[in-house]
Amino acid sequence: MTKALLLLSLCLSLNIYGQTEEEINRLADKIHSEIITIDTHTDTPLRIQRGNFDLGSRNNPYNSNSKLDLPRMIEGGLDAVYFALYVGQGKRDNAGNEKAIQVIARLHYLVDSVLIAHSDKVSLAKSCSDFQTIKKEGKLAIALGIENGYGIGNDISLLKKYYDLGVRYLTLCHTKNNDICDSSTDPEGAEHNGLSEFGTRVVKEMNKLGILIDLSHASDKTVEDVLAISKVPVFASHSCARFFNNNPRNLSDDLIKKIAEKGGVIQVCFFSGYLRELPTNTTRDSLLRNLRQRYSNFQNLSDSLSRLAEKEWYEIEKKYPGNLATVSDIVDHIDHIVKIAGIDYVGIGTDFDGGGGVTGAFDVSEMKNITKELIRRGYVIEEIEKIWGGNYLRVLGEAEKKSKF
Ligand SMILES: [Zn+2]
Repeated sequence: MTKALLLLSLCLSLNIYGQTEEEINRLADKIHSEIITIDTHTDTPLRIQRGNFDLGSRNNPYNSNSKLDLPRMIEGGLDAVYFALYVGQGKRDNAGNEKAIQVIARLHYLVDSVLIAHSDKVSLAKSCSDFQTIKKEGKLAIALGIENGYGIGNDISLLKKYYDLGVRYLTLCHTKNNDICDSSTDPEGAEHNGLSEFGTRVVKEMNKLGILIDLSHASDKTVEDVLAISKVPVFASHSCARFFNNNPRNLSDDLIKKIAEKGGVIQVCFFSGYLRELPTNTTRDSLLRNLRQRYSNFQNLSDSLSRLAEKEWYEIEKKYPGNLATVSDIVDHIDHIVKIAGIDYVGIGTDFDGGGGVTGAFDVSEMKNITKELIRRGYVIEEIEKIWGGNYLRVLGEAEKKSKF
């Protein structure tokens, strides 16, 4: 090897701070053993509901359609994960509301059963201090959120019941408008011009109870309205920056700054289609469109039909895999939020088991790759600690302090 080539190969194996890949790996392991790492959004309860799955065993993400289990959390150095109790938007009448409440109850029952079955390895985290205590005990933590305020129907008193079960955040809406607010992606457009009158009461009650308001999926005007009335910092449990991909589901620079000014946090999502604009895949897209049509847009399906639809979905996925974003894309979004808002206002919410997963962080076992990329880009341990959970815990702590009961 010539001198020039030797120098070049040496430079390639060092980052700009002179660390070799081996040093970066060691540092990432050390950081994960010392800090609390939290993922604020996964749809793993849906994976549990589909059956033929054990959270306590190691599953292969490529043949089980599972992105998270306890052995892989340990491999990836993830201490805590929020399980979203998710309900898709259905009819907004008494029967629809009742059904939505039942969906949440069923998912909660399943998660509770898993917690009992694996109580030697995992505990439910409710308060801020629980995350630290559970890590000290050598266990993993599962925490609870509800994705879609439809899950309370029109009964505000359910918020207290959910709080008592351990639910600590509520995503106000999903892909369609509900009785609480407008969604960012409802094909019909705005209905309430942001937050409804009922939604205003929901936000106030959540402040009172200490349930965090999750603005992922909400329309821009909903975000503005919530920021104007919430007495507690708010957050986005799984959202990306619109700067890189002009998708209404992503947050504009202006809203990122406003959430930060209020002391909140934006948890960057690992959903490839939000992280970047991806080239279209015509065959895949038309097959998925056809599937959606055949299964009523996946709304109000029986359990067996839902499983069938999912099976077909994954068959298409296998045959025509979608284009994926990368770890570098995720850290670009983190970098951007740090640049425009500051290091105190960004975190991580993967959306694993709900569509999240990129090349290099395809499942939870690869989470340390995010840390390694942060190290390569010059982030120090104190900053990485904030991104991996410190910022989120500050917001949860504020909600606890300001709750009134
Ligand atoms: Zn979501």
